[in-house]
Amino acid sequence: MKGNLFADACSSFEDAAFVLFGAPFDGTSSYRTGSRWAPMEMRKASYNFETYNADLDVDLADVPVHDMGDCEAHSSLEETLGVVFDAASAIVRAGKIPIMMGGEHSLTYPCVKACGRVGFVVMDAHHDLRQEYGGQKYNHACVSRHVIEDLVDRYVSIGIRSGTREEYEYVRQNKNIRSYSASDVDSMGIGAILKEVEAYLDGCDRIYMSLDMDAIDPAYAPGLGTPEPFGMTPRDVRTVIRRFAPKTVGFDVVEISPEYDHGTAALLGAKLIRDFIAAKWKSMQA
Ligand code: MN
Ligand code: MN
Repeated sequence: MKGNLFADACSSFEDAAFVLFGAPFDGTSSYRTGSRWAPMEMRKASYNFETYNADLDVDLADVPVHDMGDCEAHSSLEETLGVVFDAASAIVRAGKIPIMMGGEHSLTYPCVKACGRVGFVVMDAHHDLRQEYGGQKYNHACVSRHVIEDLVDRYVSIGIRSGTREEYEYVRQNKNIRSYSASDVDSMGIGAILKEVEAYLDGCDRIYMSLDMDAIDPAYAPGLGTPEPFGMTPRDVRTVIRRFAPKTVGFDVVEISPEYDHGTAALLGAKLIRDFIAAKWKSMQA
């Protein structure tokens, strides 16, 4: 069933350094649903690209990548979180790097948990720092709050431009948070921000990196669950991914809602996954 798997994910699970899996769940999405279709659309889009990444001088045909397929999404959020945790845990236990294709952002929590002690870098338009939303603790609008409170002591967000007054206040009062808005990226430049973030994460040799695609401006990625104008460029997002790939032990791309564009956001998501794999692999060969 080659056509249903991510391009160039030809390795067995045993031989793989990277293991992709889809998590087709969008049950708590607050505006537009449809991210359940994103794993399939990213897989389709992945066949557009050459295996060779000239910027990084890595050929993905030489990289052992396995695609496990999709884990089973349930109607209940809690059950789905459990299934995703089990999938990510099995990959981590086997000494491989999990790459989760969401699905909505709530699914990041079990992946981070599976990776053990890590620093957390998230790109997102939204703070996702609510204690609960719509009566649900693990709603996609709350994922960063619970990652901070339960799982990590170093947290960096980049691309933020949406949140409640309370969420902004929480950021100001929490010393374990470094948060950069999309306007900060614009005014400081991504290079200056990455220098600060690297200093903050110094001594933290394992990072989990999460890409909520709405970090990117909806002009580049219209097919999103909660699009927010004035976002980051895909190039700046790629720069962040390449910079932190060497320390990254788990990665995800979430919140693409493919029905709202013509494959644009899924194409970008697939490309950024491929770029992450190439950058990480290059660092592993050094
Ligand atoms: Mn999010
Ligand atoms: Mn978001």
